[in-house]
Amino acid sequence: MKNIPVVMIIFGGSGDLAHRKLYPALFNLYEQGLIHDNFAVIGTARRPWSHEYLREQVSDAIHETHDQVDENDVKRFASHFYYQSHDVTNVEHYETLKKLAQELDDRYSAQGNRLFYMAMAPRFFGTIATHINDQSLTGSGFNRIVVEKPFGHDLASAEELNKEITASFNEDDIFRIDHYLGKEMIQNIMPMRFTNPLIKDIWTSENVKNIQVTLAERLGVEARGGYYDTSGALRDMVQNHIFQIITLLAMPEPKDLSSSSIHKAKQDLLESMIIPTPEEVEKDFVRGQYLGSDNTFAYKKEPNVDPESTTETFVAGKVKFKKGPVADVPIYFRTGKEFKEKKNRIDIVLKHMNNPYGQAHSNNITIEIDPVSKIYITINGKKIDTSGIRRENLTYEFSKEEMAKVPDGYERLLHDVFVDDSTNFTHWSELKRYWEFIDTVEDAWQKENEKGNPKISQYLPYRMGPKEASDIFESPTEHWIYE
Ligand code: NAD
Repeated sequence: MKNIPVVMIIFGGSGDLAHRKLYPALFNLYEQGLIHDNFAVIGTARRPWSHEYLREQVSDAIHETHDQVDENDVKRFASHFYYQSHDVTNVEHYETLKKLAQELDDRYSAQGNRLFYMAMAPRFFGTIATHINDQSLTGSGFNRIVVEKPFGHDLASAEELNKEITASFNEDDIFRIDHYLGKEMIQNIMPMRFTNPLIKDIWTSENVKNIQVTLAERLGVEARGGYYDTSGALRDMVQNHIFQIITLLAMPEPKDLSSSSIHKAKQDLLESMIIPTPEEVEKDFVRGQYLGSDNTFAYKKEPNVDPESTTETFVAGKVKFKKGPVADVPIYFRTGKEFKEKKNRIDIVLKHMNNPYGQAHSNNITIEIDPVSKIYITINGKKIDTSGIRRENLTYEFSKEEMAKVPDGYERLLHDVFVDDSTNFTHWSELKRYWEFIDTVEDAWQKENEKGNPKISQYLPYRMGPKEASDIFESPTEHWIYE
């Protein structure tokens, strides 16, 4: 692998994301030689850490995520890390940061390349972007920026943030990260759809009855109640992860596999996305909040959550497109906290076909994303000894050994940032469409809240969310496949 020269600046170097995901991913890329002799990482955060202390943290992060490591490699890797105590609003701190980046650039021959990673609370993204511009932190080589989610709170704030970032970075150098796009089974959607005639030929409005996407979380809001209460399931999960998955499921076949062709196919689809009317929001969307149990709090009683909160911990809804192979097919989605289990899956439900056996089921294609990775197709055949029909799954799955080799989403996506491949990142044009949709739903809910009698279904924890989520189907023959 190429040795990419770069000085990387992580805003939020003492945070959870940096510790659990970024440092281990960077170490793996170092072991593969993608970054090696000519890189330095500056971790910044408010705490008064030393370089040595950051290196200890980096080393701990690697030991926590790797069973076996070469201690000399860990030491050599950690020696490339530098810490700068930094308050995001303090101009002088950016001047110091700029100087340190230049010094490290000279020491490691990083050729003026800079990679900025925003791994802090999203309310600081705009301020940091503005300072990168005002204090000219960019280098003389490539300048790339990775922006964590959420990118804005609604379309207006996303536009504002985008303006602040594009003051210093070109669209091609802005990597809006959605770690779902780094997941093995999400990256498997396109090859599965476009290399199998068996699948490709039935992936049409004539054959597909509906598509269902479920991102179920077992946990409640935990310690994040304060943040979550300002966001909710629609903004936290649908605006990014669910829409990205739906886009991959419904987009037309790209001309080729270049990043620009793939984004063009996504854009063509998204332009035809149908934005719901307020009446449709009322009919096609369900929002809910979890109740308490013997040993867990109801959402409204969680620490830092408004006891009168109307924030949803569950949402189910529907989206349709006017164009693409599954134009006009309902795509249902649901996501929420305190489901019976953690499970991310997609079900493609095929239309029923009249047949002389009568009782045969329709075929479904299921893609399980987490916690296991597999694809299966339900198929009908003859029962032994009787003339009845039996249904079996044809399964595509990985061995344990193969699964152990699957890189973490962050490792894949950081690799792509280093090699300048933006295929699996969200373009502004896509993000804008997602927000247009989300804003419409949020506005309709807001109006309902203002009338004083919002419809928010209360649901029992550790089951399948509110029963009302089954009312959004277009026909009585439709139901959630995963129950
Ligand atoms: P965190 O709260 O653990 O870390 C925040 C970091 O920002 C810390 O290093 C803190 O010291 C620093 N910070 C806070 N205020 C500051 C200030 N005024 N000046 C300078 N530094 C300051 O948060 P996190 O969980 O690491 O999340 C960071 C970002 O990553 C968020 O946008 C989040 O949505 C996103 N994200 C996190 C995860 C995850 O697993 N943690 C997953 C996906 C996305």
